Amino acid sequence: MSEIRYDRLHDTHVLIAPERLRHPEPPTEFVDPLLPEPCPFCEGNESMTPPEIFAQRPEGSFPNENGWKTRVIPNLFKAVQIETPPNHHFGLFEYWEGFGAHEVIIDTARHTTSMCEWTQAEAVAWLKTLRQRIGDLRRDRRLVYISLFKNEGKSAGATMSHCHTQLIALPMVPKMCGEIYRRAYEYFQTSGHALMESILEHEEETQSRIIEKRGEFTSFCPYASGYPFEVIISSLKEAGQIDTLSRTRIETVAELLLSTLQRLKRQLGLFHFNLWISTPPLLDSEGIGSADLCRFTIRIMPRLYRHGGFENTTGIMINPVSPELAAKLLRESIHE
Ligand SMILES: [Zn+2]
Repeated sequence: MSEIRYDRLHDTHVLIAPERLRHPEPPTEFVDPLLPEPCPFCEGNESMTPPEIFAQRPEGSFPNENGWKTRVIPNLFKAVQIETPPNHHFGLFEYWEGFGAHEVIIDTARHTTSMCEWTQAEAVAWLKTLRQRIGDLRRDRRLVYISLFKNEGKSAGATMSHCHTQLIALPMVPKMCGEIYRRAYEYFQTSGHALMESILEHEEETQSRIIEKRGEFTSFCPYASGYPFEVIISSLKEAGQIDTLSRTRIETVAELLLSTLQRLKRQLGLFHFNLWISTPPLLDSEGIGSADLCRFTIRIMPRLYRHGGFENTTGIMINPVSPELAAKLLRESIHE
């Protein structure tokens, strides 16, 4: 039986339609269509990229040479660039001249093509690099929203196979993102709680969509999952944001993220996905900061099916796998 579910986090609806369930066709053989030869993101090929903005490298090693763990470069095909300020009016319309920042974080020095291959040390180095970049860009008061995401695999929109993360910082808050924080703000004002706190409390009572807990963090399949096997990692209590996560919390998030990806891989095989990391705007209205309203959140969206006209024209996602079934299968996935 299908159900239309209201997604309280996103103020949209989702159609849970188990009768549409079919096994996605696995790739018959693994070929890497996105790998240029040689790979500009691999260690040793630093001269093939623009000069680095930041890198995690040991003392004594030089910028744009080998020896690094993670490396951040400006996006060659940038959607926005940091130098051009004001907005313009054009009749009814208003536009910005591509003001912002677009960076690529090269996640690992070795040629990994999936986060599922990462070691704990690699996941920790990746999170610390994101923490540094977001912390740095947040000091620029002209930038009010930072989108932090990964596209892994061709179906998720990746154009390079070497694991990388993208960061786009903007001078305006995208409507969808602004709405998320507006709802969080209104919910906090009426209830005194963060929306994610209430959602996780409910999830812990019912247990049916919870996958795993590590320390303060929980992975679960959201009630109104728009994607089959969609997973959210978050915490009941305030634990900081990506730019303020403590060292021990980074270790815990890295463990839970890798464990969750391993569970997904055991269920789905080689799978493509988008990953989003929350970066709330720094609100300070009536003494309420983003720490009160928002929880650090990672959202994993496996891309098993292509979206068609219905999803694109109504905004309602059709998801053939109920989140209860997805969570059960992921809970039962035993680690290798
Ligand atoms: Zn590479």
